[in-house]
Amino acid sequence: MSPPLLKVSGLKKHFTGRAGVPVKAVDDVSFEIMEGQTLGLVGESGCGKSTTGRSVLRLIEPTAGTVEFMGQDLMTLRAEPLRRMRRNMQMVFQDPFASLNPRMTIGEVLEEPLIVHDLFDRPTRKRKVAEMLERVGLSQSYASRHPHEFSGGQRQRVGIARAIITQPKLVVADEAVSALDVSIQAQILNLLKDLQQELGLTYLFISHDLAVIRHVSERIGVMYLGRLVETGPCDSIYRDPKHPYTQALLSAIPREHPDEVRQRIVLQGSIPNPAAPPDGCHFHPRCTSCMEVCKTVAPAPTEIAPGQFVTCHLYR
Ligand code: SF4
Repeated sequence: MSPPLLKVSGLKKHFTGRAGVPVKAVDDVSFEIMEGQTLGLVGESGCGKSTTGRSVLRLIEPTAGTVEFMGQDLMTLRAEPLRRMRRNMQMVFQDPFASLNPRMTIGEVLEEPLIVHDLFDRPTRKRKVAEMLERVGLSQSYASRHPHEFSGGQRQRVGIARAIITQPKLVVADEAVSALDVSIQAQILNLLKDLQQELGLTYLFISHDLAVIRHVSERIGVMYLGRLVETGPCDSIYRDPKHPYTQALLSAIPREHPDEVRQRIVLQGSIPNPAAPPDGCHFHPRCTSCMEVCKTVAPAPTEIAPGQFVTCHLYR
């Protein structure tokens, strides 16, 4: 079997919070993604999933861990090799224009990554931009327009075009459809799946929405307060979630079929402050299966079926 395209091991990102208190936003996270597949990373707001995505790409510097991508350890790359590597790993954001100059035309927005990576001569770049606009379902004539002239769905199509115009291997999509209406969400998700098949893309797909994650992922990882609590094949986890937190999250999403029986589990309390997480299993104050050991000892991941890991004392 070929090695994974992306292998993340022991990733940590710690910040210094208010009054100098350390915050473990990402705390010892490990996962891998095979080429051409999608890992959906899911969890409530503030669980560390977006920080994980940015740390993997070194858009923010991780505190510890290794990230092997295309056979190289990204953590050891200096600035220039890392800049060159960025051509192969791109990001789609919730609002693709938040960090861009609003005076740029869409054509300039799409051409910029090609210029940054010194790809093609000018006429070829213009042709690539036109082709890419068509590929994501927009007219070539839109190249002369400005971002404010576009709807949310169109802006996200441009965001996707900008991410894939350098022909990357890996795309990290961070809440890429969260701001869109449900019908537009479906169109963008279908576009992402089509592009994956056509171009062999690998996705790390980050969302708080389990229904969205289910639509796009072969495997999923569930995060809670900086840690992965369950990872495995999407079908297995949706059919038979093992971790009490995954069970509660899944119980809240709409049924796909009227015959599907699902009892709603209402979580008590809210996510604790990441600057002062509970000892032991971070989930224990909200867990209906909590045992004495859970309050003091952090569980380690256990492989309960091939490729399915649960971080919970119930499965030791
Ligand atoms: Fe619940 Fe204990 Fe499992 Fe944590 S380790 S999820 S508290 S049973």
